[in-house]
Amino acid sequence: MTWNTCELRIEGMDCADCALHVQEQISSLPGVDQAKVLLAAEKGIVTFDPNLTSLDDIKAAVAAIGYRARAMDEAQPAAAPTSARLFSIIRLAFVGVIGLLALLEIVAERLGLLEPVVDLVPAPVALAAVLIGGYPIFKSALLGLRARSINVDLLMAIGIVAAASIGEYVSAALLVLFILIAHFLESFTTDKARAAIRELVALTPKQARVLRQGREIEIRAEALNPGDIVIVRPGENIPADGQVIDGHSSVNQAPITGESIPAEKGPGDEVFAATLNELGSLRVKVTRVGANTTLGKIIRLVEEAEGAKAPVQRFADRFTAYFLPVVITAAVLTYLISGNIVFTIAVLVVACPCAVALATPLAVVASVGSAARRGLLIKGGLYLEALARVDTVLMDKTGTLTLGKPQVTDVVATTDDRTAADLLRLAGGLERYSEHPLAGAILSETERRRISLPQPQEFVVVPGQGVTAHLEGQAILLGNRKLMAAHGVSLPSTLEERAIALEHEGKTVVFLAQGDVVLGLLAVADVIRPEVPAAIAALKGLGIRHLLLLTGDNERTAAAVAAQLGVDYQADLLPQEKIAVVQQLQAAGRKVAMIGDGINDAPALTQADVGIAMGVAGTDVALEAADVALMRDDWSQIPEAILVGRRAFRTIKQNISFGVVFNIVGISLAAVGILAPVMAAAAESLPDVAVFLNSSRLLRAPKHRQ
Ligand code: ADP
Ligand code: MG
Repeated sequence: MTWNTCELRIEGMDCADCALHVQEQISSLPGVDQAKVLLAAEKGIVTFDPNLTSLDDIKAAVAAIGYRARAMDEAQPAAAPTSARLFSIIRLAFVGVIGLLALLEIVAERLGLLEPVVDLVPAPVALAAVLIGGYPIFKSALLGLRARSINVDLLMAIGIVAAASIGEYVSAALLVLFILIAHFLESFTTDKARAAIRELVALTPKQARVLRQGREIEIRAEALNPGDIVIVRPGENIPADGQVIDGHSSVNQAPITGESIPAEKGPGDEVFAATLNELGSLRVKVTRVGANTTLGKIIRLVEEAEGAKAPVQRFADRFTAYFLPVVITAAVLTYLISGNIVFTIAVLVVACPCAVALATPLAVVASVGSAARRGLLIKGGLYLEALARVDTVLMDKTGTLTLGKPQVTDVVATTDDRTAADLLRLAGGLERYSEHPLAGAILSETERRRISLPQPQEFVVVPGQGVTAHLEGQAILLGNRKLMAAHGVSLPSTLEERAIALEHEGKTVVFLAQGDVVLGLLAVADVIRPEVPAAIAALKGLGIRHLLLLTGDNERTAAAVAAQLGVDYQADLLPQEKIAVVQQLQAAGRKVAMIGDGINDAPALTQADVGIAMGVAGTDVALEAADVALMRDDWSQIPEAILVGRRAFRTIKQNISFGVVFNIVGISLAAVGILAPVMAAAAESLPDVAVFLNSSRLLRAPKHRQ
């Protein structure tokens, strides 16, 4: 069986409850394997069997419950939405005028200024307002009923009809007015939350100047292909990800990395779509376009962030699921006990599950969206909540704590007949195809000394130990003591003493052996990133007491580095042992964040509650593997991520509690007649506004408390 996966634009969803309904509706179609509906992104991602259902079936099913779905590339129907919007504005204005008059009347009546004889709003006019204004509410209630689901509009419709049926036309008109206002506020709120995503999408480059048959032509950026050569003039945005082949310039990468200091770019350097070329002209060979660019991936991950639900949201989901039946029961009970239809109406119209349903997605989208603009990508509410709860931070050493650009400092040969250059030649040959930071150090040293390297055969990487290969017919090993021991290589005591001394200086020592005979050692020193000490202090300031360095490097080197930073350490760990350390801490009840480069450490990052990968811009594997991806190599983003998580989680809890308390208090007051229906309807939009105002604070960066 073949599955099709398609993305649909879904319009008309104002509330998380709506998204849930649409998702259930699509999932109920035969042949649909999976449906994920994202409120903030206004998107549905559906996997279906094309033999059993079609895109048109899905669209029809969505339309049947009152929303609009269209394929992503399908043009937006031009006339309909504008006229629909105009119509809804006219409707709101009309009902608004009637409502105002009615309010005036009520106030005047209270003050005794006007004899009730003079009805400012005659009954037929009020009834007309109810019918015209209430049309969308009635329609949505009926569509819901047809799909056998109870929605909020059904409660409202019952309330309005009940009020009208006891002759309270003016009250019914006022109910309609306030419900329309609440709807309007909800759509406004959801729309504002989408701003964070829209701003990212707006960064997508539009135009590109490409070389075709030797001529420069302007095309739309999305029409570029990998392999194209584009020309980027000063002041222009780079239209796609690529590699500079000609020219020098400084490029402002803030849209991707959040880093405002421009980066110097020249031939061979990687550049990203949407970054700004400031000074010189660049020729760039395109490697990735559109959705495959780093920016495209960031947008997709932010859009899908609301899919990774925080545990706290499960409470909200359960609340919304049981809410409507509970309200109906409360209304029936109110009627049975008090016999008062007005009280019953008030119970029906005060109910507002949307605030609770909106509580998490709004806060998540606002936090994730604004963090993404600062180069900090958090992949959903699940990780915001985990970040908020983190009490233990584990960090990898090589390439993470250190610059990952180590340099060879010492080369020691065991016998006089081999020179340092001989050792470097063999070591360089072994490391030619290795991606380890140590390999980088050795290769740049051989390059500096212009040593030409032999070609390795049967090249093998032993994670956490080193590399082996055949060079010119000889078996050669390069790595730590574990690797030497595994191949029966013994280390003479003079060499071992030398190694220990170097390690006490914080240097990493690797041994070179041919067969089972050691030829010497290479010492490599790596510099700790300059911003690390401040970031560690900030983490301690945030109350994170357990900071632990995990490394495959040896005890002495690890101790030297850990002492410099004031953190604990565990050394001599193989990659699978790093996972075991994470598991042990988790079993002891710790919430663990692990920071690594996302490539060597991917398994430990996955095991941790939050896996944070550094400097992932342009590295797809790390971007996909991490729960939190830092676009640049900057440790100050780690305390910031924790702050973002804590703030979001706090806001979500506030939002949910406010929504729940409002409903309990509101329904209780309505049931005993303290809250009149019109007041109840007016109060209904209060929690939406509160949730919105509370969540929009998250659009700003947190203030560092360092
Ligand atoms: P860390 O945990 O500090 O990031 P790794 O687990 O990547 O370190 O590697 C641990 C040790 O294994 C290194 O210190 C080095 O001794 C050895 N090693 C790993 N890969 C290589 C390599 N490509 N060349 C030489 N030695 C290596
Ligand atoms: Mg590493």
